[in-house]
Amino acid sequence: MLAYIDFPIDDDLSLSFGKIKAKNEEIIAPKMREKKYAGFGDSLPKSSEAELLKQINQGLSTEVWRIYNDFLTKRRMEVLEANEAETLAKISDDIEWINNHRLLLIIELADLQSKDLDEVLHSFSFENKNQFETLLNPETKAFIFENSGGLCEYCRNQAEYSFASYSIETIVPQSKGGKLEARNLALVCQGCSNHKYKKTEGFDAVSNETVEFFNPRTDVWKEHFAWNEDNSLLSGLTPKGRATIKELKMNRPTLIELRAILVRLGKHPFTASLKRNGV
Ligand SMILES: [Zn+2]
Repeated sequence: MLAYIDFPIDDDLSLSFGKIKAKNEEIIAPKMREKKYAGFGDSLPKSSEAELLKQINQGLSTEVWRIYNDFLTKRRMEVLEANEAETLAKISDDIEWINNHRLLLIIELADLQSKDLDEVLHSFSFENKNQFETLLNPETKAFIFENSGGLCEYCRNQAEYSFASYSIETIVPQSKGGKLEARNLALVCQGCSNHKYKKTEGFDAVSNETVEFFNPRTDVWKEHFAWNEDNSLLSGLTPKGRATIKELKMNRPTLIELRAILVRLGKHPFTASLKRNGV
C-alpha cells in the first residue's frame, strides 16, 4: 500500500533526500525487486486500477521532482562546488530509478485496461516533462528538438518514455566560453546532463589519452557508439565515444533497466530516421 507522502522542502538538501531515500526503501524498492524488470508482472498479483492510478498520480516522483526542481532553481545562478555536482548526479540516478518504476506502473495499467501503452502514457500529463530553458527563443528550441528526434543526444534515451524533464543544454558550458547558439546546444536527458555537468573531456584508457566528448552537433553518433546484442549496453567505438560513455555514465544501472523495459515493449532502440546524427 502506497502512503501519501508530503515532504517539506528543506534548506538542507541532503536532509530532504535522506527522507526520500528512506521512503524509497520502504515503499518502492520492494515492489521494484519483485518485478525484477525482465519478468515484470509475472510474479505479482494484479493491482487494482484504482491503486495503480493512485500510485502513478500521487507517487513519490512528484515530491522528488518538486524538491529537485527547487534545488535547480535555487542553484541555477550559483557556481556549484565539486561535492554538489556529485550530489546532483546521485539525485538524478535516484530520479531515473523512480521514473522507471512509474513507467512500469503505467505499463501495468495499460495491460489491465487492455489499451495501447502510448495511449495510456499520453493520458497523463506530467508538468515537468520537456521543459526547456526559458532563455532560448522558440525557433532555437524547435530546431534542437526536431534535430534530436526527441532523444537524449548522448545516451539515446527517449523523451517520450521519460517523466524526467529533458533540457536543451550547452555542449561547451558558458563558463568555458560556450555560447547559447544552436551549434552549441543539444537535447539532453537529466541523467546525462548531471553526469556531464561542466566537463568537456575525459580519459580513454584504451588509447591512453584525454579526449573531448562526443559533440552531438558536429559528430555522427553511430561512428562513436554501438549497442550490444540485446541493446542494453552502449560501447564506444572511438576514444571519444568511450570517454563520453564513461564520464556521462551512459550505461548507468537505471538506464540499463529502462532499456530492458523498452526492449520488451519493442520501443528500444529508437529506429525512426532522424534528420541527422546518422541513425
Ligand atoms: Zn542521456
